Amino acid sequence: MTDLIRSWVESANAPDTDFPLNNLPYGVFSTGDGTMPRCGVAIGDKIFDLCAAEGEDLVTPSGQPVFDVPYWNDFMELGPDAWAELRARLTELLSEGAEPRPDLLVEQADVRMQLPFQVAEYTDFYASKNHAFNVGSMFRGPENALPPNWLHIPIGYNGRASSVVVSGTPVTRPHGQLKGPDDAAPRFGPSQRFDIELEMGAVVGTASDGPISVAEAFENIFGYVLLNDWSARDIQAWEYQPLGPFQSKATATTISPWIVTAAALEPFRTSTPERETELLPYLAEPAPMLYDIALEVGLTPQGGQETVLSRTNARELYYSAAQQLAHHTSSGCPMRVGDLLGSGTISGPTKDSRGSLLELSWGGKEPITLDTGETRSFVEDGDTLTLRGAAIGDGYRIGFGACTGQLMPARKPAH
Ligand code: MN
Repeated sequence: MTDLIRSWVESANAPDTDFPLNNLPYGVFSTGDGTMPRCGVAIGDKIFDLCAAEGEDLVTPSGQPVFDVPYWNDFMELGPDAWAELRARLTELLSEGAEPRPDLLVEQADVRMQLPFQVAEYTDFYASKNHAFNVGSMFRGPENALPPNWLHIPIGYNGRASSVVVSGTPVTRPHGQLKGPDDAAPRFGPSQRFDIELEMGAVVGTASDGPISVAEAFENIFGYVLLNDWSARDIQAWEYQPLGPFQSKATATTISPWIVTAAALEPFRTSTPERETELLPYLAEPAPMLYDIALEVGLTPQGGQETVLSRTNARELYYSAAQQLAHHTSSGCPMRVGDLLGSGTISGPTKDSRGSLLELSWGGKEPITLDTGETRSFVEDGDTLTLRGAAIGDGYRIGFGACTGQLMPARKPAH
């Protein structure tokens, strides 16, 4: 395990900051002063303005500017050698002992964060065994909980890039087709069982055209974000057979504003859990490809105090993002720079480590009590849900920043 690398940005040396020099996560920010949104890197409570640094030739990853745009896709296109060079150069520029350049810093408190990359396409997986078992138990009973394919194949569905939003974006309660009790006819109305899913998102940084190995897939992943896959459980329960979730998952998917690079997470690699059934060779993990990342989700009622609902860890996942990506390409499916892969809800084995309200309240049968004394089975209007995550080092943390969203009341339906 490496130690904290000290920076001339004093706030980056605090043990509780998400953004020490060891992290260097990439985002897009705007300052509201008429300048364009542009690329920056978080350092302590500041942002190092990469567009300005590029203007002075302090960082020159390409012959053309790549940081004066509101997305990291152009930089990702330059490939892994450029990724490593930028990280090394930023470590040099921001280290204690380097010439301080406070004029290139912006206060994080003064900016508005944007989506850090143009989401090319979005796929969501189902890679936590505890989550799959819990949900399967509720939908089909414990004897049929885990589908027969689950231990062999990373299950996923193709989602919508258009509904991916950055942390802080309000989310509106969706309308949808809901099944009545027993054999009652379906009706159309606001979802009554609107939920969250605590996930990690992997950002594909290198395109591929045809099948790639798990090892190649690992190298093609640029970095990771926190991801909340908002889910309307009542819409989902009625629509999901036989083609999987559709409108239940199409309202919004919130991601954290900083891409934490695979390079920053390198000291925290860990193996997937022991296989219960041997995987086919094309899915075998050639080296540890999960990460030890502590995760939590909190709920804040409107005007109230936050209650932490659950604490879990990314190492609970049965399949790594590299295995999911390799499987995704196995058919020949081309992958593009900026593709986003959701891990699936991450639930641990205990009740207080479940990653969705569906599981925490067991389908609404066991409402949870907040610190304020209120109860919740699902998300209520005005609630703010916040995911947090960090890999914990010795005296520092590789944090993701908050991934947050407030639920707004349903709009008037279109008809
Ligand atoms: Mn999901």
